[in-house]
Amino acid sequence: MGSTTMQIPNRLPLLLTNEGVLLPGASMRISVETSRNIQLVKSRVLRGTSVKSTILGVIPNTRDPDSDTEELPDLHRIGTAGIAVQVVGSNWPKPHYTLLITGLCRFHVVELLKEKPFAVAEVEQLDRLEQYTEGIGELSDLSQQFYKYAIQLVEMLDMSVPVVAKLRNLLDSLPKETLPDILASIIRTSTNEKLQILDAVSLEERFKKTIPLLVRQIEGLKLLQKTRKSKPNDEKRIVAIRPIRRNNQVPGRPLHLDAVEEEDDDEDSDDIVMLEKKIKNSNIPEQAMKVCMKEIKRLKKMPQSMPEFALTRNYLELMVELPWNKSTTDRLDLRAARHLLDSDHYAMQKLKQRVLEYLAVRQLKNNLKGPILCFVGPPGVGKTSVGRSIAKTLGREFYRIALGGVCDQSDIRGHRRTYVGSMPGRIINGLRTVGVNNPVFLLDEVDKLGKSLQGDPAAALLEVLDPEQNHSFTDHYLNVSFDLSQVLFIATANTTATIPPALLDRMELIQVPGYIQEEKIEIAHRHLIPKQLELHGLTPQQIQIPKEATEDIISRYTREAGVRSLERKIGAVCRAVAVKVAESQHKVTNSNRTHVTEKEGKEAVHEMTKSESITDTTDLALPPEMPIVIDRHALKDILGAPIYEMEVSQRLSQPGVAIGLAWTPLGGEIMFVEASRMEGEGQLTLTGQLGDVMKESAHLAISWLRSNAKKYHLTNAAGSFDLLDNTDIHLHFPAGAVTKDGPSAGVTIVTCLASLFSGHLVRSDVAMTGEITLRGLVLPVGGIKDKVLAAHRAGLKRVILPKRNEKDLDEIPANMREDLDFVTAFCLDDVLNAAFDGGFPADSRHSILNSKL
Ligand code: ADP
Repeated sequence: MGSTTMQIPNRLPLLLTNEGVLLPGASMRISVETSRNIQLVKSRVLRGTSVKSTILGVIPNTRDPDSDTEELPDLHRIGTAGIAVQVVGSNWPKPHYTLLITGLCRFHVVELLKEKPFAVAEVEQLDRLEQYTEGIGELSDLSQQFYKYAIQLVEMLDMSVPVVAKLRNLLDSLPKETLPDILASIIRTSTNEKLQILDAVSLEERFKKTIPLLVRQIEGLKLLQKTRKSKPNDEKRIVAIRPIRRNNQVPGRPLHLDAVEEEDDDEDSDDIVMLEKKIKNSNIPEQAMKVCMKEIKRLKKMPQSMPEFALTRNYLELMVELPWNKSTTDRLDLRAARHLLDSDHYAMQKLKQRVLEYLAVRQLKNNLKGPILCFVGPPGVGKTSVGRSIAKTLGREFYRIALGGVCDQSDIRGHRRTYVGSMPGRIINGLRTVGVNNPVFLLDEVDKLGKSLQGDPAAALLEVLDPEQNHSFTDHYLNVSFDLSQVLFIATANTTATIPPALLDRMELIQVPGYIQEEKIEIAHRHLIPKQLELHGLTPQQIQIPKEATEDIISRYTREAGVRSLERKIGAVCRAVAVKVAESQHKVTNSNRTHVTEKEGKEAVHEMTKSESITDTTDLALPPEMPIVIDRHALKDILGAPIYEMEVSQRLSQPGVAIGLAWTPLGGEIMFVEASRMEGEGQLTLTGQLGDVMKESAHLAISWLRSNAKKYHLTNAAGSFDLLDNTDIHLHFPAGAVTKDGPSAGVTIVTCLASLFSGHLVRSDVAMTGEITLRGLVLPVGGIKDKVLAAHRAGLKRVILPKRNEKDLDEIPANMREDLDFVTAFCLDDVLNAAFDGGFPADSRHSILNSKL
């Protein structure tokens, strides 16, 4: 624009337009229809899908509006060099583009170099502007005068409209010499007047030519305002300006600083009047009301076509809809609450007890200040479900906010409204959805909050949860405070390790461990199966899932701490049966059978996979082969071959494998540790998803074994007690995408390596956990209950754990304790003795494989 450093090329392709005059510093849309212009755009502006930043010469073409003839018309000798910033267009039905061009500077056509396929000219750059230095004589006076009028004009407009405010700022920030061109593009002028300004190459002349235009506009506005005062109801027809991007000019319709778009205002203003009424009748608190009224006022002055219009309206609609004062009445009857929790959830006694206590305290204290409950446990153990029950017992609305992966604080607190596409945050959105200000908000997966450049969402959450602050929570979008103090927040997490400490500090943690097999069976039969039947429109007369089938699904098709995939599998069974039932309702069979044996039911399910011959559609009552009874064969048909079978014993058929127990955020897990050795220089390689502590355990284990090699008859392949002599060891921790870390794999690594170097197989029904020391002591570890559950799930019989963890066994349900044989180990001797059949070191005669390795 007015930059003295800008240099345009000597040759410019010329774009001829009859749609107005582009002035430097202004932008204008030019529609491209003539074949010359289309050629120009195709070869110089478009590059694939992007726009090349080519400088074009834009020449106003007033003489021959439809110049698609062979001959180029006489050209206007002065044009504006411009740069295309946007191209839109299509090839159909005929090629057509619209260019958005920003003017850079004037140029003079020296000589036309070529006419086809588009015009190219040798040009001379004008507007070099070196001549302009502020403070010199007449020019300075003119510039001052111009500036004064420009300010006067802009200040007559409604400054609350953002574009006007922006324009006001531009007047101060832009070099004065660029203002005539820019203002001439905005005010109402004829094409001829604009041409004169384009031709006014000298600045002095340009100022002189534009000042009268400004004055004319100012007078026009004054007149308009006078007439408006005499018609006060006509408030909406107030001066406004169409959206401008810096300085924008719409082809053929220059921006007018006067009454705009009166045609479609009527319907629209009805809407706004309604909205205003709604706002006035609502219970919006005073401060927010003020903001609303201000926005309504702005809205009335805004032409509907402005993007701001829709934005402001959405904002106001949100303000009306928000439950500022609307709440449900709490009802809390502890006995009913206990009953409800019990009837919705099987087992989880400890959790239910804690929830009841929490509710009781709340009732007594009658306020919500205090820690936030946070349920911590693996997926699918009913955390969300309990949250929902709490809402139900209190008679409150329930809303779940998923926080997994949220890494932008505006997700919580909203975007400022200046952004395109700005939105309120999830809290305000939730309140709008539930329509009351005292719902139960379940903040799901607080342990999975991310962090990014867009700010720390945990910090925003902290403000939401802090009872000292949350009565005046300010969402950036809303920009007025909203009282969150009546909201009951409950959080859930898989692990506490990744919850930011400040957040953790606000919460009262309640652990929700995984379920044992028996519990899962009960949950399935009391809750999951009835739920899935209803969901699939089935009745117990149509399908029966006996306990054995559930047990099969649990042990052979799922391996999880919770019951989520169990529920999914039951859903799959129901789906298959539903198809069968629907089909059989059209099938002719002997209709008088009412009782079906298991075998028949099984056949029925088998049939599902075959195509059936539908012979007739006689109206029949319940299909005769009901109920379909699900057994192992049916399961195989529906769910496929069992996923978890034989795995344990298969994997333990070689020396150098042992089963450890790991704790992960998803619950306890059994973990196979594998080792192999090969010729080498005594290197240790570790693979699998493991952390640093685990690597240390591996080194400890090797050191301990090396120092005890003689005692346990451990030798390398060459028979030497120096285990690492000419030998490399590779340890692998397969299965599981979750990184495991922690010292509890120590005993497993020792056992696995002892097996490798002795050639003895580890018992296939043993799992173990425990930290080791260099001296061979076994130290206590955490997560015993989850780990024992995992071992039980995997069908293992013996669990080796540190002596000092003995007390943790109290948490294990009695029936499970009966199923398992617990060995508590004080030192590694105890571990090895329990892990190998016949103790360790076993008689060397058993070591059949030793020599082969
Ligand atoms: P989480 O939030 O812990 O991941 P959900 O609450 O989504 O788990 O639970 C998954 C499913 O399992 C839900 O359908 C829930 O009703 C059911 N469920 C989990 N635990 C129990 C239980 N103890 N009794 C009844 N249903 C349960």
